[in-house]
Amino acid sequence: MLKLKPGTKITFKSNNLIKVFTVDSLLHTGSGQGDIYKVYSNQDIYALKLFHTGDQKRLRKQMSALQRRGQASSAFVHPLYVVNVEGHIGYIMEFINDGPKGQYMDASVLFNGIERTSNGNTFHVELPFNKKLLVLYNIAEAVKVLFEADIALMDLKFENIKINKNDYSIKILDTDTAVGRESKAIVSGTIGFMPPLTMRGEEVPNIYNDTYALAVMIYMTLIGGHPLRGRRYEEFCTGNIDTYTFATNPIYTFNRKDDSNRPLESERRIIQRMKNYPDYFKDAMHQTFVEGLFEGKNRVTPREWQDILLKLYEDHFICPECGEEHFFTSSAKNCYVCGAEIHPPIKLVCEGSNKAGVYLFNGMEIYTGDLWEDANSYILFKIVVSKYDKKYGLQCVGTQSIELELANGLSKTFEKDDVVPIFLDSKIKVGEYTLSFLGGKTK
Ligand SMILES: [Zn+2]
Repeated sequence: MLKLKPGTKITFKSNNLIKVFTVDSLLHTGSGQGDIYKVYSNQDIYALKLFHTGDQKRLRKQMSALQRRGQASSAFVHPLYVVNVEGHIGYIMEFINDGPKGQYMDASVLFNGIERTSNGNTFHVELPFNKKLLVLYNIAEAVKVLFEADIALMDLKFENIKINKNDYSIKILDTDTAVGRESKAIVSGTIGFMPPLTMRGEEVPNIYNDTYALAVMIYMTLIGGHPLRGRRYEEFCTGNIDTYTFATNPIYTFNRKDDSNRPLESERRIIQRMKNYPDYFKDAMHQTFVEGLFEGKNRVTPREWQDILLKLYEDHFICPECGEEHFFTSSAKNCYVCGAEIHPPIKLVCEGSNKAGVYLFNGMEIYTGDLWEDANSYILFKIVVSKYDKKYGLQCVGTQSIELELANGLSKTFEKDDVVPIFLDSKIKVGEYTLSFLGGKTK
């Protein structure tokens, strides 16, 4: 097996471009495919993947296809230059620094949280819920680009994804496992992230394998645990437990028709959390892990997951005591984690509009574009707290008059700078639009 020594020079030559890369160090020893080195050219740092073996012609063809596809999204770490080193083929790519001082962190933090050390003590940090949603959305976006081009990575998993610590954008590594519908996959995937039929060897990896892995990652991040790992995992006694759970006898833990594999009592938090999630999320998981368990085309698509993640973002609020996510769709009165009384914030919505509306928080400004489709969005209200009764009100910022209609049929007109009081059963007319309130403390 070829091992490159530090200082080894690698030359890339194309029509009018010559670039020389110098090997700095070995970063990862690949198990099957190849090794990854840190290399530099002038002041710039890159990574080099060098294949151990393989049909040179086929690899070259694959690399140039990846080069083109990789440009479809900045999330893909793709070949920049294809090189030949002592008869071995390899490629130069972007260097993703996920070391302790690097710009990137491993996506497994979505599932495991982050271990941080301070004064010799290690403590556990979780990404805030909205940041988790943002990262998952970015992963779904990258998968969507490939999926809609009939391509799949086949080995999508936390380990292959790095998160930018500054803006939560993502980078997907190992994109050279990507194949189109007609090509033979190089890898079949990783246990737990590949669908049962692929693991059994009964179905060749296909574009729906990524939609399976995507749903697994969303489930693991938001709910915790694995969607197929429940009671049966503990009761099992002979043979290979992973084969049994993920390949030969897979049952979704929240399968609506089969409760034989529910999460264990010791994983109560998983049951409580799932119960608390909106129905559209539960439906999507059921669709993927029941109807789509053996039938790839039944799985929720990356584009649909993006809509669901966006909706979760719009529908969530955080327990002020413990930070657990709660949803506007739930009628829970107390937080199931800390027991604190929870009150979903009041939401202002426009009737008949496809906009989600806005939750009202003190000091925020509400734009017309938050409520209805408006190319010339302008500030309509500012949320203020009245001096007298400490209640929220909507201060009119726009110049047009606002009509308040009370539940008893009475109405009153408000002008600029007036504060419209909030009555949950009232309606507010702004020109042709009717606004109403959702949620809040039930009377
Ligand atoms: Zn709480």
